[in-house]
Amino acid sequence: MSKLNNKVAIVTGASKGIGAAIATYFAAEGAKVVVNYATSKDGADRVVKAITATGGSAIAVQADVANEADVNRLFAETNAAFGPVHILVNNAGIYQYAPVEEVSIAAFHQHFNINVLGSLLAIQAAVKQFGTAGGTILNISSEAARTPLPTGSVYSASKAALDAMTTALSKEFSGRNIRINSILPGVVETEGSRSAGFIGSEAETRLVATTPLGRTGQPEDIAKVAVFLASDDAAWITGEKLSVSGGIYGL
Ligand code: NAP
Repeated sequence: MSKLNNKVAIVTGASKGIGAAIATYFAAEGAKVVVNYATSKDGADRVVKAITATGGSAIAVQADVANEADVNRLFAETNAAFGPVHILVNNAGIYQYAPVEEVSIAAFHQHFNINVLGSLLAIQAAVKQFGTAGGTILNISSEAARTPLPTGSVYSASKAALDAMTTALSKEFSGRNIRINSILPGVVETEGSRSAGFIGSEAETRLVATTPLGRTGQPEDIAKVAVFLASDDAAWITGEKLSVSGGIYGL
């Protein structure tokens, strides 16, 4: 039996990378999926086309998660197309590494506006639609939240803030049938990590050498765990911060 049959899911930042894989895996498990994107319409359309070509249900909706009006429109369009949302995946995120002397105020606000405020706005909109039946929220954090690397101070701080929200809200949602968990990926090969210059670099080789499972992650490694945490198989899991990183936690 499909694990997400008849569920409505919004995956933010699903035009590529980890978000695209989560959207695809959710649809394969029977969910009706909203593929959110900020600017990459072509990418989002490709993800939707691949899902519908295999009999799944999906639509693409543009929305900047850092903009409250956009987020409210994203949830309204979801409701109009599929009905109220059951599953929210806060995946949209940015990561820029820079020595602390070079961190700009603009870059600081961009990280916190997208990675933290964007998730908060989506959670606020989701809980309004969840109703008494409850729902499930996944925050795509990063292993960088608890194993920060040099030049990653702002990115790591933004993901640590997201994980703190996961913990606080898991308690705040007590008695409301709403589960909220974080997934903490290690380095995953995506458009984002490739364009950041990490994939194929010496730093990647060094990291893989110290990763117990000996390789860089693929988007599917994260998507399979997202399906588990979003499904009833994880019915007694909330407030969890689950590392999906080949065992690199704490290095
Ligand atoms: P990616 O390839 O760069 O894709 C990022 C996605 O986020 C795109 O769909 C992009 O949409 C969307 N996005 C960016 N800003 C947005 C905004 N303001 N509103 C809505 N969507 C927005 O990223 P990725 O590597 O797959 O990473 C996805 C998530 O996993 C991020 O939260 C990241 O921090 C986390 N993560 C990644 C890694 C890794 O190694 N890749 C490791 C740990 C955690 P457009 O294309 O339309 O701009």
